[in-house]
Order: sequence, then structure tokens, then C-alpha cells
Amino acid sequence: MALPDRSRVVVIGGGVVGCSIAYHLAGRGWSDVLLVERKNLTHGSTWHAAGLVGQLRGSSNLTRLMRKSVETYRTLEESTGCATGWRGVGSVRVAACADRWEELKRLATAGKSFGFDVHLASPSEAKELFPLLETDGLYGATWVPGDGYVDPSQLTQAFATGARAAGVRIVQNCRVEAVERRGRRVTAVVTEQGRVECDVVVNATGMWGTETARLAGVDVAAGMVEHQYVVTEKTPEVPPDLPTFRDPDARIYLKPETGALLVGGWEDGTRVPWRTIPRDLGPELFTPDMDRFAPLAEGATTRVPAFGDLGIQTWVNGPIPFSPDAEPLMGVTEGLDNLFHCCGFSAGVAAAGGAGDAMANWIVDGDPGMDLWPFDVRRFGASHNVPAYLEQRVVGAYENYYRLHYPNSELAAPRGQRRSPLHDVLLSRGAVFGTKYGWERANWFAPPGVDPVEEPTFGRSNAWPHIGEEHRAVREGVGVVDRTSLAKVEISGPGALALMQRTAGADLDVAPGRVVHTQLLNVRGGIEADVTVTRLAEELFLLVTGSASGRHDLTFLLQNAPDDGSVTVRDVTSAWGVLEVCGPRAGDVVRQLSRCDFGDHAFGFMTAREADLGFAPVRALRVTCVGEAGWQFHIPTEYMRGVYDQLLAAGAESGIRDVGWRAVDSLRLEKQIPLWPADIGSDHSPYQAGLGSGVRPDKPGLLAGPALRKLRDERPAKRLCWFSTDADVVMHGGELVTRAGTDLAAGVRSAGYGWTVGRTIFSAYVPEESAHGSAFQVEVAGRRFDATRHDAPLHDPDGKNFRT
Ligand SMILES: Cc1cc2nc3c(=O)[nH]c(=O)nc-3n(C[C@H](O)[C@H](O)[C@H](O)COP(=O)(O)OP(=O)(O)OC[C@H]3O[C@@H](n4cnc5c(N)ncnc54)[C@H](O)[C@@H]3O)c2cc1C
Repeated sequence: MALPDRSRVVVIGGGVVGCSIAYHLAGRGWSDVLLVERKNLTHGSTWHAAGLVGQLRGSSNLTRLMRKSVETYRTLEESTGCATGWRGVGSVRVAACADRWEELKRLATAGKSFGFDVHLASPSEAKELFPLLETDGLYGATWVPGDGYVDPSQLTQAFATGARAAGVRIVQNCRVEAVERRGRRVTAVVTEQGRVECDVVVNATGMWGTETARLAGVDVAAGMVEHQYVVTEKTPEVPPDLPTFRDPDARIYLKPETGALLVGGWEDGTRVPWRTIPRDLGPELFTPDMDRFAPLAEGATTRVPAFGDLGIQTWVNGPIPFSPDAEPLMGVTEGLDNLFHCCGFSAGVAAAGGAGDAMANWIVDGDPGMDLWPFDVRRFGASHNVPAYLEQRVVGAYENYYRLHYPNSELAAPRGQRRSPLHDVLLSRGAVFGTKYGWERANWFAPPGVDPVEEPTFGRSNAWPHIGEEHRAVREGVGVVDRTSLAKVEISGPGALALMQRTAGADLDVAPGRVVHTQLLNVRGGIEADVTVTRLAEELFLLVTGSASGRHDLTFLLQNAPDDGSVTVRDVTSAWGVLEVCGPRAGDVVRQLSRCDFGDHAFGFMTAREADLGFAPVRALRVTCVGEAGWQFHIPTEYMRGVYDQLLAAGAESGIRDVGWRAVDSLRLEKQIPLWPADIGSDHSPYQAGLGSGVRPDKPGLLAGPALRKLRDERPAKRLCWFSTDADVVMHGGELVTRAGTDLAAGVRSAGYGWTVGRTIFSAYVPEESAHGSAFQVEVAGRRFDATRHDAPLHDPDGKNFRT
């Protein structure tokens, strides 16, 4: 087919994902779409994929996206006339150790909270479902009847056929070599066969995602590693309706392959084969790596003895896209408003149907139709895009794929990339670090004599009593928290106020020196970000957001900023350290180090000022997120160590204590302070989340204004409710809330123990008709416990403790 001069949309990449996007765009009535592929369709990773399609994920929306895939695969053959090889045979996943069984039970409960059809099975029931199973040493299994497998090449061709039939043009052997842009928009792509002007470009180039993004001057974190599976010779022992099978403890997956068995896995020791993908790479494979596969083969033989009796017919070792957390990259970045990324999929065959649908919605409606933050391209930033770091992270993510995912486990490597100026001194004081967005952050502090290592567990870890002590220090005395990793964005210029008024729910036309807790709201009234904004001067605002939210929030601001140069939006995270000094005795400490009057009258709650602290000039914000009096000090990084030392000396008499992020989370739960994205996200309005009182829906120019005015007058279908239980149970989120024995399809959002109140506290979106009732229970790994709903925070409901 000849290349057109112009197309409304250009999709780059003819793998299963690109073809699905083209198909779904056509389905939304956008058929002026050109798909260009550098080789032939499927000639990236797709042709050699195994084709397993699993749906259950850790969040409701991701599971919804995968379910959309299965719905599409069930009917695609009928609608296009092309075979897809879809077989809805179900899937069995077994647990061969106690912790895995706990993980599966928790996952099954989470699945139930999404309304997903998942069942627990005993080892003998699992054998009935999967007759080749050896049950010795098994604890149990999950059974998902709706899962299955597909033929990846046939599926891709079916999408392509359906897209072509609707008018999409597909041009093969046509590599995109350059991307032209003007300002914040891509205007054309330049291919081997000519130049095509366009309104929208989609980067669906799998493991080439980073390379393609760079053509447009954008960085995204798509990497790639080697991945292999084998196919045995045929045997009559394989029943035609055999389900797919996973034994994560043996790190293997298995799928029937027309009378044979296909076995692959996520082993240690994979490698990144190239620094740059060879320009002319076609559908070639790597040499089989038998040593690397040997432990998988051994595990497979133990669990499925028939495998060990069969000869290997085919060996596939191919490149697979991988991101730093093994999830794909979808959406737009801060640099360009019309370059959509949909790449880096390590389970792209399973996800393509749902991802194509979401991406088409995103392009046509400006919104994917659901909160896709766990897949959002902006969850990674400059730190992840450093090649040496990305390379190690993707290998780590690969090796982690079937490891036990304990809620308190932390990434093993690479570590130490971004460090606060206090890192070393905190380490010497017992800090046990976790990592977020490349930052090392102190989770908790091991007191002298205690090993500064945390055991991974689903239960209470060895850190529990020490986190409790930190919690109590803040409630009863004073704590200091290093929150340097918080992302900070400055918005300046004559148009700064208008931009903040457009994007934030609260009225930000406040006097310089005011601090406002608010949400950035999208056109649907959904919460894009939860931030504190300080008006530092008439034309200068400081926005403080979560450690991993900076790129996301900055993009949202830029997308809504005028392009007349009247506003500058700048990430200033690295310039400023942050220390939070909080607790009833915080004032006693900071007053010793400053000429500034920190009293309530002179320095009111939710105000900010330039101040001195020790020998440093600082920005002092009278805010904390722990429900006690305190200040957040923004300190130029080079002064951080000096200020910290002086705080410790000044606070010695008050018993000042280092406090980590875990204690902060427990403190905020007692105050019912919702956290983005755990409790609130772009699917939730401030009214649903209990944040409506801070919103000014009638504010002129507010992007979310029309949506909010409508939402204000409606009863939300679900509302964020806060609960507690005094049961001796450890919750992490993902549990199920029930009422009077009825499943409310309400999954727990965030959960943790509150040491002051001595209960476990959690949040969930509950259907409006049940939100004000009683007789609640929470189901944790299959067991139910009584729970109480609370209208007000359990600790200091009147907010008296904010005063000094
Ligand atoms: C051994 C193995 C087993 C797997 N098993 C499964 C499985 O069971 N289930 C599952 O869901 N996933 C599986 N996967 C992963 C799956 O293969 C990928 O997730 C999926 O194929 C990604 O599809 P894609 O369309 O994003 O990328 P690709 O299929 O790689 O397509 C990207 C396309 O972009 C083209 N392209 C790149 N640059 C340009 C350019 N500049 N101009 C034009 N075109 C360009 C490439 O040629 C390529 O065809 C497996 C992978 C491997 C290696």
C-alpha cells in the first residue's frame, strides 16, 4: 500500500498492541489511521510469544483492562472472520509454600472485591482441573475459569484485518526514522517511504519504545531482556481442554500447545542482549541458554512429571519488552501533548485487547476512561531513564516476576541512586531504607542493638514495635522526618495564578504566604493529584506532591498551561531538602533555632514564610500530614546536614526521634488523610472522597467546573469510607468489605495499624446505600472480621492538636 501524505493518526508498530490500537480506533469511528511497521506485522516480540492470557491483577482497573482483552478475544474471530486461536480453558495457579498460599488467598479476596470470578481450590481439586499435576507439597491453588490462551500471530492478523476493513491503512517495511514537532505537538513522521503529516502519533513499538520516543525528544523507560520457553513433542497425555498452569514457586508457566506442552518461566540470570537494538533485526531468536533454563525444567518436571518424559521439539529464546516494574507504559509525557505511548508490555498478548481499547478512548476522548496510574508512562522519570539503571531494573523486574510479593519487601538492586544529603547520617542512626522513584527513603529506624534489616512477611514484621515507638514520639513528643524525596514544582509568571485556578479545586487566589491543601482535577472532576500549594509571591506558587508523582503532576499542569510564555512550570525537587518537625513538642525545638516567631498567632496553621533555622535560610510551611503541630522546612540541599544536626541537639531534651515513612503512614491513617493514589485517584471526585468542602466548583475558568457542578448535585454511586477493626489481623490493602454478610464488591484501598488508637484502620469505596450503615466486616485472606465505620478521624477528630 502506498504511503499517504497525511493521516489523522499514525500508529508506529505492527505488533499485537499497535494492531489492537488501530482496530479500536476504527471501532470508535476514527478510521483515518495509518499503521506503519518497519518489517512485517508481528515481527517484533509478538510472533514468538507463548500466548497465555491471564486476567487477575492487583488492582480493579488493571483487572478490568485484562477482562476487556478476553471479551474482545472471545468475539474477534466472529467479527473479523479471522481465526485467533482463542481457547478459554481457564487457568490454575498453585502454591507450594505457606507464604505463597497466603499470597494466593489474598489475591483471590482482592479479585472478589473487583467482582472477578476466581476460586480457591484444594490440591486434589487442582488436580481434577489440571490432571497432569503432581500435588505433593502443595498448599492449594486458584482457579480462574475465564482465562485462556490465544495464537499471538493470528490475533494480530485478526486485529489488522478488522482495522483494514474499517478503513485503516497498514504499511509494512516502512520504518519511522524521524518525528517532526512544533512546540508541544508532533506534526509529522518521516519514514523510509516518505513523510506523513498527522494530528496524533502512537508509539506502539514494544521494546523499541525508548528509541521511538527519543525520535521526538522524549524519554520513556522501556527496556528489554531475553526470555525463553520450550515446546515438547506431542503426546496423547495432553487433554484438549487442559487449562493453562502456573507454579510461581518453581517459577514456571505452562500452556497446552496442540497436543504438546509449552513451558517457560521467569528465571534468574537473564540478560539485556544489546545496548542498542540492531537496526535490521528481524524475526530472529537468540541461541537457547540451556544452563539458564535447567532450574525451570527441573521445577516443571517435579510439578508436571509428564513434561520430564517428553523430548523438546522447539526452543524459543526471544527479546521481551520489560519496564522497571514489569508493567507497560501508557499515556503522554510532559513534553508532547499528542504523542501517546503504549509500549514496554511484557504481557502484551494478554493486555492488547484492553490496552487498545483504553488507548483509543484516550486519543478520542482525551481520557482512557479509567484510572490507569499503575500503567502510566509518567510513573517513571529521569532517574529511571538513565540507561545503566534501566538495564539493571528491568533484569530485576524480570527475576521478580514470580517471586513472592510481600507488602513490605523492597527492591534488592539497583539501589542508592538518589540520596538525601542526610542519607549517610540516617544510615548510621539505624535507618532501614526503602526506595521510591530512585530515592532512598528511611522506612523505619532500628534502635541500637537491633539488626537494621526487615524480614519480608505478610504478617507483622520485626519492624513493628520500632515503628510503633516512632509513631508515639510524634503523638507525645517530637519527631523529625526526612521528606526530601517529595516532588516540588514551581509555577511562576504572570499566568501562574490563572493556571492554578484552572487546574486546582480550591481557590488559590489567596494572599502570598498562604498554604492550601487541594487536588488537581481533570475534566471529569476526577482527582489527578493531591497536593499542597503555597503562594510564595503574587506570581510564584510552590506545589508539593508525592515522591513518585512529580512527572505526572507537572505534565498535567503543562497540558493545561497556555503556550504564550506567560507561565513557567519547573521541577525544583533536587534543589530542596525537606525536614518535617512534628509533635506537641516540635515548637520547643524549632524555637531554639530561629529568630522567627513560631507561635500560633504569628505563624498560623496553613501559612508559610521565609525563616531562619539554625544557620540556614529556609522556607517554613506550617503543615504536617500526621495530625499534630509541626512544620515542613524546605531547606536548600547544602544546608540540610547542618540543620539536621542542630535539630537533634536542640531536641535532645525533648527526646526528638528520627521517624520513618511507615510511622508517617500510620499517623495519617488515624487522621483519615487520604493518600493519592492509594485512596484517591482520577476515577474519584472530591465529593466521593470526602474532600468536597475544599472545592470551589463555581470558580471561573476551572477545568473541572462543569463536571463538579453536576457531581455536587448527584449522589455518588460509591463513597470513600473509613473503618477500623480491633481483630488481630494484618491488612495491607486489597481486602474485601462486606455488610450484613453481603459482599459489597468494595476493596480496601489503604490499611495499616494505628498505634495511638490500638486498631487497624482502613479505607474503601462503599456503595452509597450501604455507606451509612453498620454490621460491616472485612475479609482478609478468606477470613472475616468485624469492622466499625467512622464518620470522623479516630484521633483528634476536632483538629485541636494542629495548634502549638
Ligand atoms: C518467549 C516469549 C514468550 C512470551 N509469552 C507471552 C505470553 O504468553 N503472553 C503475553 O501476554 N505475552 C508474552 N510475551 C510478551 C509479548 O511477546 C509482548 O508483550 C508483546 O508481543 C508486545 O507486543 P507489542 O506490539 O507491544 O510489541 P512488538 O510485537 O515488538 O511490536 C512492536 C513493533 O514495532 C515495530 N517498530 C519498532 N520501531 C519501529 C519504527 N521506528 N518504525 C516502524 N515500526 C517500528 C517493530 O518492528 C515491531 O514489529 C512473550 C515474549 C517472549 C519473548
